[in-house]
Amino acid sequence: MAITFFMQSGFCASFISVAHAETKISCRRDVWGHRPGPKGFSTVILDAGHGGRDSGARSSITGQLEKDAALVMVNLVREELKNKMNCVLMRNADEFVDLDERVAYANRYEDAVLVSIHFNSGGPSVCGPEVFYWRVDSYTLAKRILSNLNTLGSPQHGNRGLVRRRLRLTRNPEIPCVLVECGYLSNAREASAFLTPSYRVRLAHAVAQAILSQRAEGDGSLGPLPAPLYAPLSRPTDPRE
Ligand SMILES: [Zn+2]
Repeated sequence: MAITFFMQSGFCASFISVAHAETKISCRRDVWGHRPGPKGFSTVILDAGHGGRDSGARSSITGQLEKDAALVMVNLVREELKNKMNCVLMRNADEFVDLDERVAYANRYEDAVLVSIHFNSGGPSVCGPEVFYWRVDSYTLAKRILSNLNTLGSPQHGNRGLVRRRLRLTRNPEIPCVLVECGYLSNAREASAFLTPSYRVRLAHAVAQAILSQRAEGDGSLGPLPAPLYAPLSRPTDPRE
């Protein structure tokens, strides 16, 4: 679906503000997200997946827990973005936060994007980043993050890269939102690499730069955008495809 569809329809016009010096596509909250990706937004909400009694995946190779790795990552991404944009952490401790609470928290913000950080688990040979999105306005942010993570040199084996999937953190927030799997804790090379500070910083830098690029360029030339999909809010009982 071409971007012009949204601009011409008038349907989204009230959600788009145009600044004088530069074009700013800064969206207010919107249930569907059938609109261009954001540009010039002020805030990123960094969500460390899992936490507390929900450990997420556990690496059988290094013993790392996904909840801990995710928390490390969001703090490094925040460090990368320091003095560049406003960062909000969904959690900054080992605490359980319900998914619907995360959605409600994100929905308190306007002019923001939500980036949820996770680590994957699968067969021992599966590796590489995977990024989930659902909303049209989240497509290019997801694409930018995946593209940057791919430059870290992880040849992808078996995962699907960019995935449009209706999850509670990709469908239910009313702001652009993506869920990033930064690599596989079940893969010896990626799990071991994440133990080294330099690799962690490279991962965080890749994610942070994608967020900054999205803020500077919006969708840029990364279109065409995917077609709008009308689907109800995601529920805990939804089967995983
Ligand atoms: Zn996870």
